[in-house]
Amino acid sequence: MLRFNKVVELQAYIQSKKLEGRNIGFVPTMGALHDGHLSLIIKAKSENNLVVASIFINPTQFNDPNDFDKYPRMIEEDSQKLESVDCDILFLPSVEEMYQNPLLNVVPIDIGYLDSILEGAKRPGHYQGVVTIVEKLFIAVQPHNVYLGLKDYQQVKVIEKLILDKNLPIKIIGCPTLREENGLAMSSRNMRLSDQAKINAGEISKQLLFVKKNLCTSNPKDIIEKAKSVFTSNPIWDLEYLELRNAKDLSEVSQKIWLDDIGYVVLFAGKIDGVRLIDNMEL
Ligand code: AMP
Repeated sequence: MLRFNKVVELQAYIQSKKLEGRNIGFVPTMGALHDGHLSLIIKAKSENNLVVASIFINPTQFNDPNDFDKYPRMIEEDSQKLESVDCDILFLPSVEEMYQNPLLNVVPIDIGYLDSILEGAKRPGHYQGVVTIVEKLFIAVQPHNVYLGLKDYQQVKVIEKLILDKNLPIKIIGCPTLREENGLAMSSRNMRLSDQAKINAGEISKQLLFVKKNLCTSNPKDIIEKAKSVFTSNPIWDLEYLELRNAKDLSEVSQKIWLDDIGYVVLFAGKIDGVRLIDNMEL
């Protein structure tokens, strides 16, 4: 696996490979890699003949500086994991390489109401940081295909909007969420959970599944309220949201269109052990 730290060097290498006719698959990450990340690399490898993974903990997307400081950093272990799935290139830029301005230049991009709902509402500025860094990474890697986890469902929608707005010739491939045995979605943040909290956090996917199974047979509002009450009635949880949305654009679901044959997604965010977890399930 080749390693690049500099944008211009990566760009030159990718250009030369594109001239040879290579198809470039890209998996952006913030490191502390787990099997969920590796499943994206494996998928990218099966559909492209040059796969780039990036590891960059992007300071501009952390609305809580504490969260940024505590984010796990383990480059050598990550690098070995990437080698184990035959990743071709690791792009590992410094903060200074990605942001020339020491105050970190976030360029506002209009992502519409996605910025003010769910994660956008709970983490002000988060998605502006995400689109800023993703556009910079796209310019560095120039991929044909980008592989994104559906675990970060709203993030996929935001990046779709970025690609549409900027007319970027990049295809998004949304990949399924890998889970622990108890259903807990794999996440780099899980390593900050105690063993007991990891067990308790299995409740998230249990309730998302409960919604999925019962939605068609009962009033959707009642089902969502029932699932929410499991978290609000237990002091170990600090529930931020558990909401049903239209899967296509995350707009609100109204009773009127409920019987239409369109997709839905139920999305969760909440804290346990002081660690913020998100998850979702398409219905
Ligand atoms: P992160 O390092 O958290 O920024 O995640 C990098 C990519 O991996 C994103 O596209 C995530 O959605 C994806 N990802 C994170 N967790 C999982 C998981 N459990 N299963 C599949 N993909 C995931």
